[in-house]
Order: sequence, then structure tokens, then C-alpha cells
Amino acid sequence: MRVASLWLLVFLFPSMIIAQEIPIQVVDSGGQQLHTLQSLVQRGTYYFDVEDLFLLFDPQGGQRYIPLTKRLTLRLRDKRFDLSVTRKQGKVDGQPFRLAHAPLLVDEAGPDNRPIIRVPVDFITDVVGPALDYVIDFNPNAQRLQVREAQVSVPFQATNPEMVSLALILDPGHGGQDAGARGTTGIVEKDVTLAVARQASAFAESIGLPVYLTRTEDKTVSSLARAQAAIWNRGGLLISIHCNRSFLPNESGVRIFINNPEGNLAFGNTPGESNTSEESMPIQEVSQAQFLVHSKQVAEALKQQLQESLDVPVADIVELPLQSLMQVMMPAILLEVGFLSNPLDQTRLTDPSQLEALTQVLVNTVQQFLD
Ligand SMILES: [Zn+2]
Repeated sequence: MRVASLWLLVFLFPSMIIAQEIPIQVVDSGGQQLHTLQSLVQRGTYYFDVEDLFLLFDPQGGQRYIPLTKRLTLRLRDKRFDLSVTRKQGKVDGQPFRLAHAPLLVDEAGPDNRPIIRVPVDFITDVVGPALDYVIDFNPNAQRLQVREAQVSVPFQATNPEMVSLALILDPGHGGQDAGARGTTGIVEKDVTLAVARQASAFAESIGLPVYLTRTEDKTVSSLARAQAAIWNRGGLLISIHCNRSFLPNESGVRIFINNPEGNLAFGNTPGESNTSEESMPIQEVSQAQFLVHSKQVAEALKQQLQESLDVPVADIVELPLQSLMQVMMPAILLEVGFLSNPLDQTRLTDPSQLEALTQVLVNTVQQFLD
């Protein structure tokens, strides 16, 4: 489809014949690769597909293009961007900006009858970045786009009072094709995790805590997409929500897991002793280790509160290398909220008042770690 669209362009506008596609790596502040995007380079200017903006900054963002007026409206987070495919001028939340080049209308009716529109890289670096509080550097020689938080660098080290508080990321496990465990009453894990996340999210919002859900509907979301959404949405703590199931009907209560990748690390010596082994470690694993202490604090506090406030049994916290949390660059825990094989737990997770109590304890407990 892309190739066909390009040929159409070439046919209509012979001057565009030099357009070519070049892959650009998107990396975070630590150099960790997040995405590879196909840029379209035309007369030395790099253009990116509008859909890539949603991938990068807001999977729930949206676009509207009106062919008659050639106007394009984008919504990313709570910002509105007004553009036109014939003009360099635009507006972000009513404030005017000017680009070096106008966006490109590649195909007015692409797949699903949606238009394919590409924006010049300066729209991303100079307009979207500042609007969403990111510092975005584009290095065409390195074929790299680096995105950094403008104000927040390392979670949990809030010393600047002007710092925007970090978001609680709620990650409802499973979804779509992946149903997870099934309960004896017919309830399904993917529905329970979403219900818990939604209720917790509503409560977090009501007390002014920034919150973001990695999925809000019954759909398949990859671990990587969940981790990236958490990073792009200023996550300071991720709670992955799951349910348990046992062949022993009496087994009940909450289980808390922490991602500890240390078991995977090949330390030649005692940790911290050797510089060479540290240098050769992948960035990803070093980052995980640095969040471990905070993940433990959250897990301990949660265990205590669930036992004291709700009288829910909580087993000892387990530390494991958890594949699903490997890409999450922030403190993270995996919470199994109950056993779908246990009648009392099933009631606890579906009864509205008990669900409300659980989610309030959850949010109130973790809130202190995000201030
Ligand atoms: Zn699960």
C-alpha cells in the first residue's frame, strides 16, 4: 500500500521523485530503543506518519482529517493540534506555530479509508515535544530520535517542588484473545483485572492522582506496548493486575511479585565490585535493578495494608525475573488479587463494595510513593 501511494505521488508530483524511506530508531534518555519508525525523506526533510505519533505518545490519541478544507486535527493526551496539509502554520491548543514544511497528504483514502498523512520532523521536535513536556532531539546522521522527559528524569527522586507528579500505571492483565484464568463461576481473569483497574483508576482520579491504564477495553496488548505506554505516560509506578487459580479450592488471598532480574545477571563478582561487568551489562537490566528497592517498598506497604485494612491473606512477597515486566523502566509489582478457584475470592472480586474497598486500599497505599 505504501509503495503504491508513493508511486501515485511520483506520478502526480514529479518533483517528489527523490522520496525514500529511512528507518529511524526512537530511544529514551538512557539510549534504550523503544521503536523503529519508517521516515519518508523528501528533499532532505524527514516526515513521519501521523499514526506513529499515537504509537509514541498516546495510544488513545486520535485524528480527524477533513478533505474539503485539508485540515487535520490531532489529539495527543489532552492537547489539540490543528494542522493543514497545505500550510506550514498550525495551532496547539489555540497557540500558533510555524513549521519549516507543510505536512504531506500521502493518500486521502488509505487502509480502512483513513488518510495517510505525514508530518515533518520539526512538528515532533518543536511542537509536540514542548506541548507534552518532552525534549526531543533528532539526529539524522545517527538515524535517531531521542525522547526525554523535560522535567522528570528519575522516578522517586522528587526534590524539585515544581516537578509534576508521576502517574500510577495500572496494567490489567490479559485481554482480547488472551482470556487468562477462568473462575469456577464462569468469570474470566481478563474481565476481573480490567474491572479492578477501572475502579482503582476512578478512585485515583477522584483524589487527584495521575493515573493511566495500559488497556481500557477487552483487547490484546503486548507486554512491550504496555511498558512503552507506561513510560510515555510519565509512569512512576506500574501495578500489573492478575488473578490466580489453584486446584486446591481453599487456596485464597493476594500474591505480590516483584520483578528481580538479578537471577539473569551474570555478575562476575559481587555486585558493584567490578566496573567491567557493570559496563558490559545491558542498560535494561541495570535500570531494572535500580528500581528494585522501590518496588520492594511498595510491595511491603501493600502487603501490610491489605492484611490490616481488609483482612485479606497475603502470602510472602516473591521476587522473580518476570518477563512481562522486563521492559518496564520504573518500579513495578505484579499483583494477583485473588484466586478464581476460590468461592470467597470470587465474591470479593465481583461484589461492588468489596471491590471498592480493595481498590481504595490499593490506591491509597501506593499514592505516597508517587508524590
Ligand atoms: Zn494472569
